[in-house]
Order: sequence, then structure tokens, then C-alpha cells
Amino acid sequence: MNDLEIVIGLEVHTQVKTESKIFCACSTKFESPPNTNICPVCCGYPGVLPVFNEKVLSLALKVSCALNCNINKDIYFERKSYFYPDLPKNYQISQYKMPLGEKGYLEISTGRKIIINRVHMEEDAGKLIHKDNYSLVDFNRTGTPLLEIVSDPDIHSPQEAYDYLNSMKLLLIYIGVSDCDMEKGSLRCDANVSLRKKGAAKLGIRVELKNMNTFNGVRAALEYEVKRQSKVINKGENVVQETRLWDFQKLKTVVMRTKSDAHDYRYFPEPDLLNFCVSDELIESVKKSVGELPLEKKRRFMKNYDILEKEINVLISYPWLSKFFEEIILFYPKAKDVCNWLIGPFLEQVNNLDNGFSAVKISAENFSKIVKFFSEGKLNNLGAKKVLALGLTTNEDIDSIIEREKLVQVSDHEELLKFVEEVISSNPKAVQEYLEGKQKSIMFLVGQVMKNTRGKANPKVAKDILERRIQI
Ligand code: ADP
Ligand code: MG
Ligand code: ZN
Repeated sequence: MNDLEIVIGLEVHTQVKTESKIFCACSTKFESPPNTNICPVCCGYPGVLPVFNEKVLSLALKVSCALNCNINKDIYFERKSYFYPDLPKNYQISQYKMPLGEKGYLEISTGRKIIINRVHMEEDAGKLIHKDNYSLVDFNRTGTPLLEIVSDPDIHSPQEAYDYLNSMKLLLIYIGVSDCDMEKGSLRCDANVSLRKKGAAKLGIRVELKNMNTFNGVRAALEYEVKRQSKVINKGENVVQETRLWDFQKLKTVVMRTKSDAHDYRYFPEPDLLNFCVSDELIESVKKSVGELPLEKKRRFMKNYDILEKEINVLISYPWLSKFFEEIILFYPKAKDVCNWLIGPFLEQVNNLDNGFSAVKISAENFSKIVKFFSEGKLNNLGAKKVLALGLTTNEDIDSIIEREKLVQVSDHEELLKFVEEVISSNPKAVQEYLEGKQKSIMFLVGQVMKNTRGKANPKVAKDILERRIQI
């Protein structure tokens, strides 16, 4: 294996966010009843004419710009012909000779820039639902706008492929082009992999891998395939060029078809759509709309805030969260404290909401007060979490929540002393154990004070007082 180099190229299909399909006015809504979002155009009736959805162009341009591609301004579509029951027209409208974007790159988390070969627009096919001894077809998906993003054979390990996919997904989400939900089919990936002797000029014979439903699946399938191919090569045999399917239950790849059944798609220009030229104004305005990309944001955060890289990774992995973070520190500039509360209790509570971030109502200012009150000792950890839970989806004023729920932390010695005395006298065993050196007992006693004060005591102060009283 050591003298072999791994070569991987990835083909990503992503559904771009539009209300209607790419060549007709049908809705792209997910989970509509089968065959309700269809019309003569997307069902390929004779004599109908497709009309190109302009929104697809601007979203595709945005991706091409964010991936640093050269833009082919002359747009024309081609027909890719093949027969399949989920393809009512028997051809798919796609771009072939002149993809919208060419020769760009995607920078991944290691800093490597993976070369992007092409970005092109096309329409999706329908969906087959296989039952015991018959199959059903749902054409709702036919004509859904897709972008195909193809990398050069420029990826050199399964882990790098995994990094590429995560970086691609985050970029697409950041620029607002796709929700990249693999479960809904809005992001899919095929992988091509080959091995060659290190330093060899020619690429090795490749295998195409399909049917991976998660990024982990892509990485696992590639790892399996690298091992399989290296065994073949080490035996002195040749890898067979073929398409293999990932079996995620057996954790292996199995042959789907060999090169001999390779398709000839008979591409030719789509006669029903006009060629047109993208204006420089549109390209310029799309370029401006791209905004800060995830890695740029990460670098800026690393430079400006005293937060660990792994914490910044969490912040930037949710565009919404990183924006909220920067809004909060306008009110309370201790970035580290704000970050801890965001990626800790806040995320935990948001994950329990049905609608995630979209259900969050708390304002940046209100959130900043929770962090501030906690840092200054007005609220203890429990109290702050409770205030957060109460304000998260209501945005009720934090001061009034604290007052209503009587959550102000008790740090006052006189007041806590009463509770401490009581806990000491009612827990003689724990006190004795502590005196005999069992450190854990003190935490038990602190816990009792917390319980008796209904969580309001300042645990640090309570511990101090306990220690001093017991030593006396
Ligand atoms: P196809 O026509 O089968 O789609 P492409 O030339 O478009 O083939 O390539 C598909 C993907 O396969 C691209 O991502 C490309 O980088 C990758 N690829 C091509 N040749 C190899 C190879 N020998 N090893 C690994 N990946 C390859
Ligand atoms: Mg291809
Ligand atoms: Zn339609």
C-alpha cells in the first residue's frame, strides 16, 4: 500500500432552493402527495415547451463564484438521453460541453484547495418506490433544479473526501443556495477512486461508488474500496473499471455494472430552449451577494476572539449561531463567556426544540444579560439555565424573569450560614467522613445546601462556608 497513491474525484448533486422547478411552474415542495406537483412539461408530454427558471441561474452563478470558477457566459442546454422508468421524457436537460462554471477550487479545513472541474445546471429525475412485486413512480421530483459539482481527481484520502464534503455542504448552506439535507435528497454524492504507483503520471483504473447516504458512508465506502483495490494490485492483477454500490449493512461494495454496459448518452443541444448570454451586471451583483465564506469567517474569528479553534468550529458550523454570537458580543464583549454559553446550554436547549433555531426568540441583548449575570455572580449556573429556558422562545425580559422566579443567586454569608448550619447538623455522617478525609463528602453537603435553597445558593460560597464551619 505504501507505494500506492490514492486518487479520488467526487460528484456532488445539490438541489438549489427555488419555489418552482427548473423548466416549469410546478412546486418543488418536499413530501407533497405523489404525483401532485406535476404538469405536461415535467412529465414530458409531446409538444410542450420548457421555460428556464431565472432563479436557478442566479443560484448556480452564486455557487460558481463561491467556488472560484471561471464563468461561461454563453448558456445552452443539452439533452442527455437514456431510458429509465423515472424519466418520462427519456432524456434529461443538462449542460455538457459548456458548464456554467469551470476550473475553480474549494478550500477545505486543512487549507488544501481541491480543484473543481465543473459546476453545471440540470434537472432531476423522478422517484421509484419498489414494493414486493411491483414498483410505483412519483414524478414530483422530475424537473427539480440540481447543480452537479464535479471535482478533479485531486483528493488523496477518504478523510480528505469527507472534509471536502463537509466543507462543500457548509459553503452551500452559508451562501443560502441549498439546505443540503441528505435525507430529503437535496445533497447526494458519487465517488470515483483509483490507485496508482506514487509518482506515476497516468491515473489508475477507477471505480465509481454509488448509494452512500451519509458522508460517513462515503468515507467508509472509500476506505473499503482502497483496501480492496490495493489487494488486487498487490496480487499483480488489474482493477476492473466498474460501478459499485455501497452496502451499508454489510459494510462492503458490490458490483452494480461494468464498463461494458457504459451509457452513450447521445448528448445534443436542447432545441426547445433559447441560447442566451449572462450579463456582466448579473455576474457582478451575484459576486457581491456571496458574502463571507465559512473559512473566511473562521480565520476572522481566530484573529479577533480569544476562543479555542474547536469552539470556533462549533460556532461557524451553524451560520445562524455565528451571526447571533457576533450580535451578542456587541452587548457583552467577553467573547469566551458568550461562546461557552452558546455552544453549551444554548445549543443543548435549542436541540430540544422541535423547530431548532427558527423557534428561538431570545434577543441578543437579552441573551447577553444572562451571560453577564452569570459571570458577575448574580445568577448561578442552574439559575442562568433556567432563565435561558424561560426566555428562549419568548424573549421575555431577563430581569423580570429573574424577579418573578426569584432566581437571584444567594452569595450573602449571613443568609447562607443558616442553611449551612442546618445541613451540618442534619448530616453528621457526611461531616464525619469529610473530617476523615473523604473529599467527596463536601460536594454532597454543598448539594444539600443547593437543594434547601432551591438551587439559589452560590455553590462556591456555600462550599467555603461549609469547609470553614466543619474545620472549627
Ligand atoms: P463520467 O463521465 O463517468 O462522469 P468524469 O470524467 O466526469 O466521468 O469524472 C467523474 C469523476 O471521476 C470526477 O470527479 C473525476 O475527477 C473522477 N475521476 C476521473 N478519473 C478518475 C480516476 N482515474 N481516479 C479517480 N477519480 C477519477
Ligand atoms: Mg460525470
Ligand atoms: Zn411541471
